[in-house]
Amino acid sequence: MAETLGINVTQSHQTLPEGVKLPIYMDNHATTPLDPRVLKAMMPYLTGIFGNAASRNHSFGWEAEQGVEKAREQIARLIGATAKEIVFTSGATESTNLALKGVAEMYKERGNHIITQVTEHKATLDTCKRLEKSGFRVTFLPVQADGLVDIEDLKNAIITEGPDKTILVSIMYANNEIGVIQPVQAIGKLCHEKGIIFHCDAVQAVGKIPVNVLTDNIDLMSISGHKIYGPKGVGALYVRRRNPRVQLAEQINGGGHERGMRSGTLNVPGIVGLGAACEICQNEMAAEAVRELELRDYLRAKLEKALDYVQVNGNMEHHLPGNLNMSFVYVEGESLLMGINDIAVSSGSACTSATLEPSYVLKALGLGDDVAHSSIRFGLGRFNTKAEVDYVSDKIINVVQHLRDLSPLYEMVKEGIDLSKIEWAAH
Ligand SMILES: *Cc1c(COP(=O)(O)O)cnc(C)c1O
Repeated sequence: MAETLGINVTQSHQTLPEGVKLPIYMDNHATTPLDPRVLKAMMPYLTGIFGNAASRNHSFGWEAEQGVEKAREQIARLIGATAKEIVFTSGATESTNLALKGVAEMYKERGNHIITQVTEHKATLDTCKRLEKSGFRVTFLPVQADGLVDIEDLKNAIITEGPDKTILVSIMYANNEIGVIQPVQAIGKLCHEKGIIFHCDAVQAVGKIPVNVLTDNIDLMSISGHKIYGPKGVGALYVRRRNPRVQLAEQINGGGHERGMRSGTLNVPGIVGLGAACEICQNEMAAEAVRELELRDYLRAKLEKALDYVQVNGNMEHHLPGNLNMSFVYVEGESLLMGINDIAVSSGSACTSATLEPSYVLKALGLGDDVAHSSIRFGLGRFNTKAEVDYVSDKIINVVQHLRDLSPLYEMVKEGIDLSKIEWAAH
């Protein structure tokens, strides 16, 4: 299809800048490459140190356990927790399942009501839907046009008495599509005033911006290894032990590992990698955030200078440094992606059972289907360079201009025709 549009996707007419290799990875919200320093920390545990961390009566077990306990400390330090408050899991999806189902089951006598919001990750939304099926009442709060939750909406949704009393609020720290940072501290404060447990999916925030479970008033927090240059298939749940002490009903039975909250032999190399990834983030986060923010603003400025009818999505003040979500209006999303197929980014479409659905996050901001489909999420990360940003922006400008040259809609808009006043023939 790209061929018929006259875009040569295999041979770029651009010359490759020094140090740029194709394809370019700019999708760091989906996953991040393993940092070589993390791999180095993991290697001994993939080879010689193979013990089971639960083996208490020999040195093989003790050595493995030492690696695990060091990682617990490294993670706790990054988020202002204590090591005992870290529960290891297979990733943030499991952490969130454990948090929400564990609280619902443990505190169901207290009340029946859970509050979340519509732009959460599917790990939260689908778990909430499952809880609805088993009899809980769930409120899915809307977001404002900038993607942020309105604290007043949250206040109004809280039920303080009766069988439908609110027991749990789950709102994410930073959104994985549009990068907006929710007012977590205020949400947590409100929850604590009302005696409600606050879970936060902080997968995109931890290691990228300062997160502190104490000052942010968070009771339960989901973390994932592979979003912070650690390995896949490992994550953690922070579980607060004081003010208030949070208890969870275990969701996986067998052996009582992780203080009874999550049974199963620990993934020692993965856990060691997660710990090492957290320590690197702790040391480098401040400088890296400045670097990514500069790249992000540079990318945005270049695109906005060269192209008309583009818009950024989501509040840009409360925003992750490495995220840019942009709509290229009057461009068909699929053709755009095909034209830039040597660049890995995400589109504003989600493939659900063979059909292309517009992103539910962008729709929640009020974007129309067409605009959502024409959107691109750039996820800048630790290994992206300015030369890559130059290549990506030049390529996008090229392809968008080309597609618009072929677009009758764009031509009409340029001629000053109001598209909303046109009556289209039914097809
Ligand atoms: C990736 C992601 C998850 C899921 O994490 P896994 O470790 O892959 O299960 C949850 N929430 C957000 C915001 C994410 O970006």
